[in-house]
Amino acid sequence: MSSPHQRRPILAANWKMQKGAAEATAFAAAFLPLVAGADSVDIVIAPPFTALDRLGQALSGSAVALAAQNVNPEASGAFTGEIAVSMLRELGCGYGVVGHSERRALYRESSDFVAAKAEALLAAGIRPIVCVGETLEEREADRAEAIVAGQLEASLARIPQDRAAEVVVAYEPVWAIGTGKTATPEMAQAIHAFIRERLRALYGATAEIIRIQYGGSVKPENVRDIMSQEDIDGALVGGASLDPASFARIVLFQEPEATQ
Ligand code: PEP
Repeated sequence: MSSPHQRRPILAANWKMQKGAAEATAFAAAFLPLVAGADSVDIVIAPPFTALDRLGQALSGSAVALAAQNVNPEASGAFTGEIAVSMLRELGCGYGVVGHSERRALYRESSDFVAAKAEALLAAGIRPIVCVGETLEEREADRAEAIVAGQLEASLARIPQDRAAEVVVAYEPVWAIGTGKTATPEMAQAIHAFIRERLRALYGATAEIIRIQYGGSVKPENVRDIMSQEDIDGALVGGASLDPASFARIVLFQEPEATQ
């Protein structure tokens, strides 16, 4: 199925703290043949740092891109436990996820820090996937748009107009991540349209080519409906990306065959 709009769909797997190098390599061996014909979408996998090297080797020669789940904005130095953009580039990362809600909530990462990461990634030629999204409490207080707008503007504060097209925005309502609850496609579309409007205010016509992914319990059963929405240009997928057959169905916008 082709996308209803001009932006090339981008389907990204976020494995979080799951799969070491051996498992990641086994995933690639099973996954790549399943998506060999998928040439109208961008496919990205973000494994843990320790699997980047081996997964990168397993993906080389394929169209599947490698991504980091995080990065430190400093170039080098005394930052124990951290990873710099040059190290990601050396391993062939094409994308880097920044501002995931787990990092914002569990590690208290601010949008200013996220902005510095996004800037550092772009300077190294790595496309940032900038995550934003409201909590359930914020949505119930009717603050979803205000929260998303605030995170978006602060996280993109260091991205100039002439580099904005390289950025991917991921809208991930926190209440839908790993919970099995998905925003309805219409609900997601409404906030994606709102995000596009804010991007127009920041970047003018470039907003039409910036891709906005939806994330939050995306699975083979709902990907087609989600992707049919005008301003939804892809998905960032956690749980359902861990299994090669499941992520392949998502990439192909394919519902599982009905079991009788
Ligand atoms: C995520 O971690 O970005 C995510 C969307 O997870 P899940 O698909 O498991 O909800």
